[in-house]
Amino acid sequence: MQFKVLARFFEKIERVSSRLAMTDLLAELIAEADSDEIAKVIYLLQGQLGPAFEQIEIGMGEKFVEEAIAKASGYSRGEVHKLFKEKGDLGLVAEQILKKRKQRSLFSAELSVEKVFKNLRRIATVAGTGSQQLKIKLLAELLNSASPLEAKYLVRIPLGHLRLGIGDPTIMDAFALNLLHEAKKNKNLVAEVRKVLKEKKEEKREEEEERKLRARIREMIEDKYNVHSDLGSIAEKLKKSGLAGLNRIKIQPGIPIRPTLAERLPSAKEIIEKLGRCAVESKYDGFRLAVHKDADKVTIFSRKQENVTAMFPEVAEATKKQIKAKQAIFEGEALAFNEQTGEYHPFQVTMQRKRKYDVKKMAEQFPLTLFCFDALYVNGKNLMKLPFKERRKRLHKLIGKGKTIVLTDSIETSDPKKVKKYFEENVEKGLEGIIAKDLNAPYIAGARKFAWIKLKRSYRGELSDSIDTVIIGYFKGRGQRAKFGLGALLTAVYDKKEDSFKSIAKIGTGMSEEQLGKLHKMLSKIKQSKKPVRVESELKPDFWVEPKYVIEVIADEITRSPVHSAGKGQGGAGLALRFPRMVRIRSDRKPDEATSVEEVAAMFKKQRHVKTGA
Ligand code: ATP
Repeated sequence: MQFKVLARFFEKIERVSSRLAMTDLLAELIAEADSDEIAKVIYLLQGQLGPAFEQIEIGMGEKFVEEAIAKASGYSRGEVHKLFKEKGDLGLVAEQILKKRKQRSLFSAELSVEKVFKNLRRIATVAGTGSQQLKIKLLAELLNSASPLEAKYLVRIPLGHLRLGIGDPTIMDAFALNLLHEAKKNKNLVAEVRKVLKEKKEEKREEEEERKLRARIREMIEDKYNVHSDLGSIAEKLKKSGLAGLNRIKIQPGIPIRPTLAERLPSAKEIIEKLGRCAVESKYDGFRLAVHKDADKVTIFSRKQENVTAMFPEVAEATKKQIKAKQAIFEGEALAFNEQTGEYHPFQVTMQRKRKYDVKKMAEQFPLTLFCFDALYVNGKNLMKLPFKERRKRLHKLIGKGKTIVLTDSIETSDPKKVKKYFEENVEKGLEGIIAKDLNAPYIAGARKFAWIKLKRSYRGELSDSIDTVIIGYFKGRGQRAKFGLGALLTAVYDKKEDSFKSIAKIGTGMSEEQLGKLHKMLSKIKQSKKPVRVESELKPDFWVEPKYVIEVIADEITRSPVHSAGKGQGGAGLALRFPRMVRIRSDRKPDEATSVEEVAAMFKKQRHVKTGA
């Protein structure tokens, strides 16, 4: 595919204002791409140069990009810089300048997606002396062959500013749309969908059948994405072999799996009513780590599927020594545990281990213990479908002697009194609470189901759990706060079905002066002049921002409010947080992993039950 074709799609995508139209456009683009280039197209749509877990950061500073534009156009750096000051977007600067370029080298040729991707990846990966000059040269080489429109996007990618606002779910929807034709010819799939329709006695069969079939394909793709976090490689298999390509995607050490998540219930009694006899484990407050072992190679992923191996050398070392299998994928919570006193260090101490520098020194000072709670894969065998009871046994067998990798503390019971007592003991020990686990449930990647139920010590407010919201905009500071450039945040929860962010709270308290400054710096880099496509909010902030950062919020309660969009029915009021306070920035959370609209609605309902004593 020629890069100019992709650039035209980028331009159309940028102009689109509804998610449906975006899906149609993406489906068109996917249909046009070949199987050997689709992965690259998908990564670029995601604003990346590879799967997210590879964490390829292009990181070219503005100064160097200006230089590349100057080099390719014959303008001086000063002229480029002056225009940048006026426009505030080097993409637009490149577009304008290339319309009136003063020079073009003889070696200009049509750009292919392949060539662009190759150069950009080199820009991202060259290091050492002279690497900045080489990066400039590589970008200038692309710009030399680019049309003004191509230049606009070519420049935004290395700056990390290609904000197309497309969520992975929308990309998966587009694939589902393209595969519908094939699915209609697949007898098994059609029979499966018809069976459901018949059971539900649904009308408008034909239309409904098509809708359900699409939803089913989307689900099949997502199931694979949950265990193989690389949409580019999934796309390639789908392009090559259609739906059958999905069978070739297997879990594999080194490729992260999306974590299973816990539901909440307010009491021990309700937990036992829901699960019956169950396992109950201590709930540790540290970092959730997924450890992948493949012979001598150990890779550690965070909850957000970032590769954090370099941060936790003692966990990697212990994996090599303690894990009694050649290949394994297992999960645990790592925290700084003081062996001498037998106490856990507070979360703030554990937090300090998330750093890029002084790793060794800190590892010696505050060594981590990994409390393991699940095993997903051992020696070529996928354990995810096994009941929890069985996985726990395998986990037990997997862990050899040693101090760094241990099992979580756990009991098995069907007695709510025992659950309550265990909860209290854990809180006394300084832990967060407990997690109850369904003994028969499989590991459900990427989903929050009642297979795990958490019970946490309450915050002081009425709302017993905090909420993770996504920042969608901010208000300028007034009065005292004018100097920070930021006075309050507009935040949203995530609507899974619609892949959109719906406003729930304007938050002006809970931030320290230092945090205000930090937030302003982070947010001003991603501000946008118009409302991002996937955002729904009637409240208009001074600046919209790309939904990127998640913050943890506590509040007194959830209330009905006409102002906010979360949970809004037709014509009805939405849900809002009363007296929201920011607790912290959650860098371990992606925007689509924020609290969902459904969860907030469930918490709202529960809160009413408690209040009325129902
Ligand atoms: P969530 O991970 O559920 O989205 P969260 O990050 O706010 O939300 P909590 O709601 O406090 O975390 O609880 C779930 C988390 O608890 C898990 O993701 C995991 O990191 C941690 N955890 C601690 N102990 C355990 C345990 N024994 N079993 C499973 N998870 C545990």
